[in-house]
Amino acid sequence: MGKADLHIHTNASDGDCSPQEIVEKSIKKGLRTIAITDHDTIKGYRKAVETASPEQIEILPGVELSVQWNEKEVHLLAYCFDPDDEDINLLLMQQGRARRIRMAKIVKHLQKQGIDIDLDEVKAEAGFSNLGRPHAASVLINKGVVASANEAFIRYLSTDKLGGIDTEYCTLSGAVEVMKKAGGVLSIAHPGPLYSDSDIKGMLSCGVDGLECIHPSHPYPVQKKFADLARKRNLIITGGSDFHRPAKSGYEPYFGIVTLGDEHVASVKHTSKMRKSINKN
Ligand code: AMP
Ligand code: FE
Ligand code: FE
Ligand code: ZN
Repeated sequence: MGKADLHIHTNASDGDCSPQEIVEKSIKKGLRTIAITDHDTIKGYRKAVETASPEQIEILPGVELSVQWNEKEVHLLAYCFDPDDEDINLLLMQQGRARRIRMAKIVKHLQKQGIDIDLDEVKAEAGFSNLGRPHAASVLINKGVVASANEAFIRYLSTDKLGGIDTEYCTLSGAVEVMKKAGGVLSIAHPGPLYSDSDIKGMLSCGVDGLECIHPSHPYPVQKKFADLARKRNLIITGGSDFHRPAKSGYEPYFGIVTLGDEHVASVKHTSKMRKSINKN
């Protein structure tokens, strides 16, 4: 019995904390179960499981995939898959490549606007982390082009500002297929502010198991709307803090506060177990 957070980032993608720091903080906050859901990589998850025993904290395999659906980029959470599955690791390699290709296009787009930035600077900023727009934002901050990451997104890096830049991310259906074959359980990340009801139905029809009902961007009525839909359609409910870093004040926004009840964690694990046993036969 205990609280869970199934949406946490580390410095393996665009978070600031190391996997070990996340595990230590989670234990301190009294979390019983966590999932490290870095963008398109499980390197942070792999490090995290080495730092704690299952008695201290349960760490579920997790990842937040960027996928394409209906000309939109969708964030898809996957849990409890076999982290050593070859097809999953191939998929993650391809996703990493797609990120590098997209960043090259983003940098060119910024250069055309007269901004002094090059790809090597963004790669250096990312270091060993999976490359993403927050690393480009950090370069823009360091150069004094913008004052904050939020300003970088508003002025230069939002999907709107990047307009026609296409990506080579996997399709939603493709990701669902690979993940399910390896026992993975799928949930649409932070659906609240992003999609219409018919979008949600369309995505669910691709074989997604559930919805991230509990997320800091969901005010109570939104949470309730998705939880009602989940109950009606027998979907899995997931949730977490989407923690990336402590705020400048030292306050850790939503971490240890926005949590998920253990009955939902049990459903995720049960679905994965069933899937793995069906896959075997
Ligand atoms: P990417 O993975 O390259 O698509 O970048 C998306 C990530 O950028 C999200 O997961 C957030 O961590 C971050 N992000 C998105 N919007 C903002 C914003 N307005 N301010 C700061 N970070 C943002
Ligand atoms: Fe992020
Ligand atoms: Fe996301
Ligand atoms: Zn996230």
